[in-house]
Amino acid sequence: MDFNVPLDALGNITDDTRIRAALPTIFYLLENRARVILVSHLGRPKGNIDKKFSLEPVAVRLQKLLGQPVKMVSDVVGKIPLQSAADLKEGQVMLLENVRYNIEEEKNDETFARSLAELADVYVNDAFGTAHRAHASTEGVAHILPGVAGFLMEKEIEMLGNALISPEHPFVAIIGGAKVSDKIGVIENLLDKVDTLIIGGGMANTFLKARGYEMGKSLLQDSQLDLAKTLIRKAETAGVEFILPVDLVVSQAADPEADYKQVSVENVPNDWMALDIGTQSAEIFAEAIKKAKTVIWNGPMGVFEMAPFAVGTYSIAKAVAESGGMTIVGGGDSVSAIEKAGFAGKISHISTGGGASLEFLEGRELPGIAALQDK
Ligand code: AMP
Repeated sequence: MDFNVPLDALGNITDDTRIRAALPTIFYLLENRARVILVSHLGRPKGNIDKKFSLEPVAVRLQKLLGQPVKMVSDVVGKIPLQSAADLKEGQVMLLENVRYNIEEEKNDETFARSLAELADVYVNDAFGTAHRAHASTEGVAHILPGVAGFLMEKEIEMLGNALISPEHPFVAIIGGAKVSDKIGVIENLLDKVDTLIIGGGMANTFLKARGYEMGKSLLQDSQLDLAKTLIRKAETAGVEFILPVDLVVSQAADPEADYKQVSVENVPNDWMALDIGTQSAEIFAEAIKKAKTVIWNGPMGVFEMAPFAVGTYSIAKAVAESGGMTIVGGGDSVSAIEKAGFAGKISHISTGGGASLEFLEGRELPGIAALQDK
């Protein structure tokens, strides 16, 4: 399971989406009289037992959501979980403590994977969010036990996979976020599939610079300029409409109190920085989204954590939500913008995996999926 939920300073779960997303698989197993042993990581304890990464709050929440007791087991491998697994009756659930309390987990240590496998007869992987990691609980165990995909995993593969393999056209991808370098793989993989590629957020600055605009103090990746030029050329050759912002919200600092104004891309002042797309860009982007039958959105259009620079991201969230086509939103920031704006119910598929959905969209094989028998 991917129970890697956000917690506040007091250890309260601030968003239980990931727990809820796992319920169909758990209910199915319980209804079919399985003895269910749940395994997940939470945060990055790096092999140390650290109370702040305990799965106890998850056990409490899960208990409420399932309407039945969830036995919390303090260890992941060894005598205690073995005994608890042996005591577990049909239709009962137990949750092991954070699998990353053990350093062997992230090393995909075979002995550790064997100890985990010893607890069960069948391995069900429903943790799409960690499917891009070859860890003991996400990959290693599948080589020892019969490994199958849970319903969440299945849905993610189906939705993202269909968009890549047989999308309805026009297919529009909106890619935002801070850096070009993080999303090159996605852009390259989508270039021969989409009809329109929209670039916003900090990464648009590098593309705008590649087109010859001066970007002042904006976040830029000079090392990626040549690549940006190549991608623009590739898009032209492939007949893909490549849309960049035509106006920007600029400020003297990434500070909500700082002065800000809207300028066209030709007029970014020397000592100002672009922190959001402008209203005209948002309209152009929305127009393209409106015509789409398939939309993929990953990455914010600006520094949306600060109200003055969040307008672009929210207008794209609205446009995606209003699109009549198949809509897929991935990446923590775009998902949070969609949720904060109250549009979650209007999106065909909200991917629960940030890094995993990016790697999937890059066309890479995810080890957690590759190791399963029913992929
Ligand atoms: P990513 O994780 O690559 O999707 O990037 C998300 C981050 O990009 C968010 O924290 C945004 O604040 C940041 N970001 C978006 N647009 C800009 C921009 N124009 N300048 C600086 N940072 C940005």
